[in-house]
Amino acid sequence: MRYSGFRIIKEALTGHKGWGPAWRNPEPKKSYDIIIIGGGGHGLATAHYLASQFGESSIAVLEKGWIGGGNVGRNTTIIRSNYLLDGNEPFYEFSLKLWEGLEQDLNYNAMVSQRGVLNLFHSDAQRDAYRRRGNAMMLHGADAQLLDADQVRAECPFLDFDNARFPIKGGLAQRRGGTVRHDAVAWGYARAADSRGVDIIQNCEVTGFRIKEGRVQGVETSKGFIGARKVGCAVAGSSGAVMAKAGLRLPIESHVLQAFVSEGLKPLIPGVVTFGAGHFYVSQSDKGGLVFGGDIDGYNSYAQRGNLPVVEDVCEGGMAIMPMIGRARLLRMWGGVMDMSMDGSPIIDRTDIKGLYFNGGWCYGGFKATPASGWCFAHLLSTDKPHETATAYRFDRFQRGAMIDEKGVGAQPNLH
Ligand SMILES: Cc1cc2nc3c(=O)[nH]c(=O)nc-3n(C[C@H](O)[C@H](O)[C@H](O)COP(=O)(O)OP(=O)(O)OC[C@H]3O[C@@H](n4cnc5c(N)ncnc54)[C@H](O)[C@@H]3O)c2cc1C
Repeated sequence: MRYSGFRIIKEALTGHKGWGPAWRNPEPKKSYDIIIIGGGGHGLATAHYLASQFGESSIAVLEKGWIGGGNVGRNTTIIRSNYLLDGNEPFYEFSLKLWEGLEQDLNYNAMVSQRGVLNLFHSDAQRDAYRRRGNAMMLHGADAQLLDADQVRAECPFLDFDNARFPIKGGLAQRRGGTVRHDAVAWGYARAADSRGVDIIQNCEVTGFRIKEGRVQGVETSKGFIGARKVGCAVAGSSGAVMAKAGLRLPIESHVLQAFVSEGLKPLIPGVVTFGAGHFYVSQSDKGGLVFGGDIDGYNSYAQRGNLPVVEDVCEGGMAIMPMIGRARLLRMWGGVMDMSMDGSPIIDRTDIKGLYFNGGWCYGGFKATPASGWCFAHLLSTDKPHETATAYRFDRFQRGAMIDEKGVGAQPNLH
């Protein structure tokens, strides 16, 4: 069923009896050409593009819980392509372009809102670094604009410009960045993939791999064995645990990241604003809540909840740039499990086991990557070649010392 304004009017006049379920609830078949493990944003996007762009027709997505229950429904909804390094910028710009056409592609209202992303800077050295980043972005065809303090003040008068420790001297703006309703992304991709015949099987945990003579035969699951010619793993925070079942040890650690939402306030924040001297970022949801976050908790965990020291740290960051946030009451907070790679950049690659592919290491920036990650993973799964924007995302970069160290903090996952 196509969603449209006409359809809403028709349903409103006929008692809303014509709406069907957005996707089926099938039982698994004996085997598929391609199995995707993980029904998060990346797994569902991969399935959608496999069917819509690469002509694959026998696909299943296996999800141990429910669609949207992982990080895709837990993140702070920010999309952007403001990266510096060659290995990253073309990929994230490709992703932003896909976001721009996503709702038409999926026929689904994902509330893509290009309200802009503004990174504040607080020193001359930081301004120079942001100028360099903006130039790198523009060289790759992305948009970037360096603002001085007065220009920032005109857009965000509520910021504390004269903070003695972190005075705001300007910002790097990407106007095409913004926010997208996160769980609608999972639902939109699920509905579109299902309409092309992809079986989305919820409550189906992958518990092991069947591997014979170095080639994957299929997966063991809580619903029994399911055969496959190719298996793609896209389980984000569970990457290490799932790939260990195939005997692989990844250059990835699992860490907790928290998100926070305040009570609803009148419209105040025009886009996404990030603090440049600490880790704090904020936007305002359509319901009025301030949506904000900061650093990972800093220890390895699979718990989807965090601890109070980081709550304090994030709130201190908020108070440093917008003290009035101290008057708002915190309504909700939660945690998600991050797949932190050693250099803070992702991996989309084959493994040494024939027919087994991996997508992960998204750290806390994988939501904005969802469309490109799905497209590039589908490209790899279908053609066995990396997509041109994802050639740097290989396992062997750690062996070759060719890390994509966007933050410049070295091989320390907890610092990225
Ligand atoms: C608090 C928070 C804030 C964030 N903010 C942003 C942001 O503003 N911008 C941004 O770009 N990124 C952000 N991120 C990161 C982003 O959400 C993730 O990088 C991205 O969602 C990960 O990909 P995914 O959607 O496929 O993951 P998930 O939704 O976690 O999908 C993985 C799925 O695999 C399933 N799974 C695990 N093990 C198995 C198994 N054995 N069998 C079957 N299924 C299994 C899980 O149940 C899960 O549903 C944030 C993350 C968090 C937690």
